[in-house]
Amino acid sequence: MKANIGLIGLAVMGQNLVLNMNDHGFKVAVYNRTTSKVDEFLDGPAKNTQVVGTHSLEQLVNSLETPRMIMLMVKAGTVVDQYIDDLIPLLAAGDIIIDGGNSLFTDTNRRTQYLQEKGLLYVGTGVSGGEEGARHGPSIMPGGNKAAWPAVKPIFQAISAHVDGDPCCEWVGDNGAGHYVKMVHNGIEYGDMQLICEAYQLLAEGLNLSTDEMQAIFAEWNQGELSSYLIEITANILAYKEDDGQALLDSILDTAGQKGTGKWTGINALDLGIPLTLIGESVFARCLSAQKDERIRAAKALPKTSASFSGDKAEMIQAIRQALYASKIISYAQGFRLMREAAKEYKLALNYGDIALMWRGGCIIRSQFLNDIKQAYQQNPDLENLLLADFFVEAMKQAEAGWRQAVILGIQLGIPTPAFSSALAYFDGYRTERLPANLLQAQRDYFGAHSYERTDRPRGEFFHTDWTGRG
Ligand code: NAP
Repeated sequence: MKANIGLIGLAVMGQNLVLNMNDHGFKVAVYNRTTSKVDEFLDGPAKNTQVVGTHSLEQLVNSLETPRMIMLMVKAGTVVDQYIDDLIPLLAAGDIIIDGGNSLFTDTNRRTQYLQEKGLLYVGTGVSGGEEGARHGPSIMPGGNKAAWPAVKPIFQAISAHVDGDPCCEWVGDNGAGHYVKMVHNGIEYGDMQLICEAYQLLAEGLNLSTDEMQAIFAEWNQGELSSYLIEITANILAYKEDDGQALLDSILDTAGQKGTGKWTGINALDLGIPLTLIGESVFARCLSAQKDERIRAAKALPKTSASFSGDKAEMIQAIRQALYASKIISYAQGFRLMREAAKEYKLALNYGDIALMWRGGCIIRSQFLNDIKQAYQQNPDLENLLLADFFVEAMKQAEAGWRQAVILGIQLGIPTPAFSSALAYFDGYRTERLPANLLQAQRDYFGAHSYERTDRPRGEFFHTDWTGRG
């Protein structure tokens, strides 16, 4: 019996996806550049499964039922192009290549077109949830050539996470739509993580709480509107003690790494002209954290004035919770607003409710909160901005005062809260009817004759003034 699907790339994601597919009754043939890993996989984690090992692409292709379906779970970039070119001569019209890595959406646009010209179908899919997700149910965000979807759907929807019976996997759209949505997902992940880190630093350094006290706070927050995988693992991380009884977290060097998907999201937001300030600040916060040696020198040259918190701790803990929740709403509002613009710019028919549903389970940003987003888009699929949905209008009203208190605490004590405070600045800007851009336009007209519109004249009528002539 031929295999239902082939998978290339037996690193952490590939191996776990294969085992997941096997559990759901699909027969998988596997290949890896370093072929010894195929044998190790079959003798180890895939022992006693129906997984088929192969040592060449020809062998892999020949072991598959038609139309053939081959999924790549390899390092993103030129490796994907190389595999595509190696596979093309071995495949026949109607066969499907799927890229499940973190590819840039513009690469997926290009590859979908390239394969279409050769009569082959291409799917670029986001897969989120790390090792655990891949093994037991990831969030899967497929896009590309929709003609491939009927063949891919039964496997992807079977292996994906499910919430309330719904699979966290739905067709996202043409070309690079799946990888675009995965990119924004990763940007939002950067934002969620940075927000939690800011709450942690305010609790630890602003309120001088111990790791045990903070563990209890995050565990409690995980019961309410902040309930999410990232809050849950934060509580677990705070609880983790080394043999000497000290929290491991206290011994971890404060320099963050990154692989680039947050940066791509920020670059795309700049390209499309959409404020994505919270994710941008989250990427920059990682960059600043990486300048450790310079920060040590700056800490000596620019010491903080000694200030301490003297108010009601319990009240401030609530304020920090509200700051985290309100900022998180801003981050998702900005992310979904970006996708709305992308849909227009790249002509993608994105379904925002489906996207929220796909992110509700399986992935790193899975949370309770995504249900509220799904409902907001269910009520109004054309919602301009999440902040305008009744549910979120009310949520912001409830959280605003505490959010400001938490940001003020950071400002007073010199504790950086770039995501909390930039989110607040966006909120205040977004709901301000008249911004100081009148002065900006006057400056542009003054030095560059860029012209301006007037409030007492119709839009689209432009004026220029000789500013040095008077006054
Ligand atoms: P990875 O470390 O990104 O890639 C390793 C795989 O790529 C191995 O099979 C390796 O083969 C192959 N490879 C690397 N360079 C190659 C080359 N020049 N020619 C041929 N094969 C090459 O693996 P991963 O962490 O499992 O991730 C796979 C994909 O999923 C990536 O795009 C990643 O960004 C994405 N992703 C990862 C995660 C995660 O949590 N790790 C989550 C979501 C998405 P050899 O064994 O022969 O070296």
